[in-house]
Amino acid sequence: MNKVEIYLKNSIKKNKLPRVMLLLGPDEDIKFLIAIKIMTGIFCNNNQETGNINLYGCQKCFICAQILAQNHPCIQIIKSDPEFKSEIQIKKIKEITLNSKQVSWIFPAAHHLNKSAGNLLSRIIETPTKDRFFILITSYAYMLPSTLVSKCSHIFFRTENINPVENNTNYEIPEKLIDRMSFIEKLIKSKIDLSILLKYWSQKASKDFKQSLLNAEHDNKTHVNKQLILESLLLSNIQFKP
Ligand SMILES: [Zn+2]
Repeated sequence: MNKVEIYLKNSIKKNKLPRVMLLLGPDEDIKFLIAIKIMTGIFCNNNQETGNINLYGCQKCFICAQILAQNHPCIQIIKSDPEFKSEIQIKKIKEITLNSKQVSWIFPAAHHLNKSAGNLLSRIIETPTKDRFFILITSYAYMLPSTLVSKCSHIFFRTENINPVENNTNYEIPEKLIDRMSFIEKLIKSKIDLSILLKYWSQKASKDFKQSLLNAEHDNKTHVNKQLILESLLLSNIQFKP
């Protein structure tokens, strides 16, 4: 167990787990899995009955199974809506106020909250409720309203470095435009998962380039053609260095 996990486990044991957590660190998919598992730790039948706390629950009881299947009525997962340019609209956050106080919420990509949704959420979490947890996940905390960020307990996960490099293939972005064109061609042929590649680049990207990578990731999620994404990312501004 790493330091973060020990902290979380002790917090569950003492019933002192923060009600609003912001999971930071590089990989959103991994952090989402962790968020789900933290919820099993909180609500697991065996944890509650035996008092013998397992951070990620027993992973066997009915409640754990339901949570892992993302099918538990008391845990809502708020994803971005492709219909609204991947934004999370205020409508979704209003549902929280309508819902029973027993429901906990996970936001797998909290930076998709639009401004009004983020501000409303920030007001909702002001009044803590005993059995209700909010887990916000993002690698881009600067995109969230600062009032919201300041009300969360920040938990930083250092996941394994993502490294798509295999068979000595070089995925570093070339500096010259001419090289970038053939580079894009090579990437298309290699059939590498674009989202992994974008995450790989964002590990050492400048702030501006991170924003472009983020836009590219949005496009990728909405199934924009891979070649178009790469071209607008790598050829649109030849001056700037990643
Ligand atoms: Zn369980």
